[in-house]
Parts: sequence; C-alpha cells; structure tokens
Amino acid sequence: MNIDKRLVRRDSLEKLFDILKQNSKKIYAPFLKNGKTTFRDAESFAMISTGHIQTTESSKDIAFPRTEKILDYSKGKDGLVVKGIDLENLPGVILWGVRPCDAVGIGALSSIFNWDYKDEIYNSRLLQVTVFGFSCNKSDEYCFCTSVGGTPGNTAGSDILFTRMGEDGDYLAEILTDKGITVVLMAPDLFEKSEIAEKEKFLAVVPVRFNNKEISEKLDKFFESKVWNDQSLICLGCGACAYVCPTCACFDIQDEAHGKSGSRIRCWDSCGFSHFTLHTSGHNPRAIQSARWRQRIMHKFSYMPERLSVFGCTGCGRCSRACPADMNILENLISIQEVTL
Ligand code: SF4
Ligand code: SF4
Repeated sequence: MNIDKRLVRRDSLEKLFDILKQNSKKIYAPFLKNGKTTFRDAESFAMISTGHIQTTESSKDIAFPRTEKILDYSKGKDGLVVKGIDLENLPGVILWGVRPCDAVGIGALSSIFNWDYKDEIYNSRLLQVTVFGFSCNKSDEYCFCTSVGGTPGNTAGSDILFTRMGEDGDYLAEILTDKGITVVLMAPDLFEKSEIAEKEKFLAVVPVRFNNKEISEKLDKFFESKVWNDQSLICLGCGACAYVCPTCACFDIQDEAHGKSGSRIRCWDSCGFSHFTLHTSGHNPRAIQSARWRQRIMHKFSYMPERLSVFGCTGCGRCSRACPADMNILENLISIQEVTL
C-alpha cells in the first residue's frame, strides 16, 4: 500500500479527538500523574501528555491486560456452566500517542501470541485497536531503537504516524493501514492534502550503540559465560523490567474458586521471578538470578530472532529507567559485544 501523507494542523488534533469521541471511540492516551506518564482512558484532549520522551509503562496492556478474567464457571444441578469473554463485542479503541519503539513492539508481542497457539483473546482485542503513533523529537541516554533496527520515526506497528514538524509546528500524518484510512474518512477535512517535506530533520537523533547481528551470533556460544553472573549480581529479581517492557509476554493463569463457582484469571508474570520456573517437585531449572538474567537476554536477542525472525527488544530503554538497582540493558549489551569468549 502506498503511504498517503497528509498535513494535520496543530489545532486540528483536538478536533480529531472530539470527532473520535462523538463516534463512540474509547481513546487510550498518555497521562502524567505523580511523575509517571502512563496510558489511561482519555476523557478530554487537555489531559493528554505530550512532552514526555517515553511513557513509564508500555501500551501492551491494551491487548494483553495485566490482569484479565478469562472465564467464570459455576457448578449447579444442570452441570458445569462456563462463561468466557464476549470477544464479539469488544470496544473499538484508539491508542493515541504511542512512540515508534512501542508500536513496533506490538508486532513482536503478536508473534509470541501466534507462534504455536493462536491466542484468540489477544488477537480479538488487537483487532479493535487503531494505533496513532507519534514520532520522537527527543531522546535520552537510555534510548537505543536504532541498534535494534528501529528509528525515531519508524512507521511499523502504527496505523497513522504523526510527526510534529518543529517545536510548535503542524503534523505530518502518514496513513499506513486500512484502519488509518477509516479514521481519515471520519474527519476528512482535518487531513489536508499537501506537498510535505521529509520528516527526518524533525526526528530525534539516536546513535547506533551496538551491532545486533554480532550480539545474536555471539549469544549462541555464550551460554556458560561468567558475564551473566557479573551483570546480574545487583539484580533484585523484582520483575519491574518485564512489567514495563512492550514485548515481555510471560503470564500466569490462576483459578479463584468460591465454593461451586469461580473465575480463571490471566495475569502478567516474569521470567525474572524465582518461582516462574519452579517445578512442583521443588526443582528449579533457573534457580539463581544469573540464569534468569541470561534467559531474559537470550530470549530477546537469540531465541526470538531465531524462531520468530524478530527481536524481543525495541530499544525503548524503559527497563533501564524503571530498574531500582540501576541495571542498564544497553550497557550490558555493549559489554557483551566487547567481552571475548
Ligand atoms: S528491574 Fe532491575 S532489579 Fe528488577 S528484575 Fe529487572 S533488572 Fe532485576
Ligand atoms: S528489554 Fe528493555 S529496552 Fe528492550 S523493549 Fe523491553 S523495556 Fe524496552
């Protein structure tokens, strides 16, 4: 599909927001609260945060909620009754203000949820989501999208990508998918035809910090390296890095029973937790933190590229910003590149 480029005036974004609301769209956008910028249900345009480099948490919970009841059950005189999620009537959602390194993570997450088993709940939710990406015009020392194949203006994963042309400028809107076209047709006057300059000069500069191909190849021979122990000595195993990550997909399933009825709940988990791989026998194949740290890096930079042809990391830097122990994934990847076998 040819990318259709339109001009959206600075003042038109609020009008677009209002038109989408009038069309019963739920809009999920970044809010600044208590020093954290996170995605929330947006009631008004004025509440949306724009000045952040990156949201504290990713937007993955729109299709993969952190806690989700997947079914209710009850046992009565007519036998067992099971009621699942009504996947036919999920609400249409606009995911507004997603950074490119978050949007591209949707592809990585989808590849996990469709690898061997097609996760119907995840897929049905995602089908209802239209992604409004917003290019980055600033970055910080934690960003490394360009080291894993991305850019601050990457279109992958967005249905429409907005790029602000200058500090107080108008927006270049790249209409990328049929979902994006549907939005344009709701407010055609706001998407003006225009000869628009290239967007690159308006984007943040993010230098390439390591060679991802070299790292993936090196990891093949690195399983027994002492680097895992050296790097993970300060790790608390708290799981914050997994919870903020746009591509981490570990989950647990719990049953909550109350007499003859109950619910089955899916909730986020982390391969960084010691209980994650604990067998009922008491044996734990990843009993120490260094084995769990190795798994995190191996999964993202070796197993996923090999099995799913995609990195499990988009270079968003969230895990490093969130880590209470100052673990920095970028520094650790650079040190893996530099260490000799
Ligand atoms: S956030 Fe930091 S301390 Fe917590 S599990 Fe991740 S790397 Fe370890
Ligand atoms: S591993 Fe860290 S830098 Fe990579 S996508 Fe996840 S949160 Fe972002």
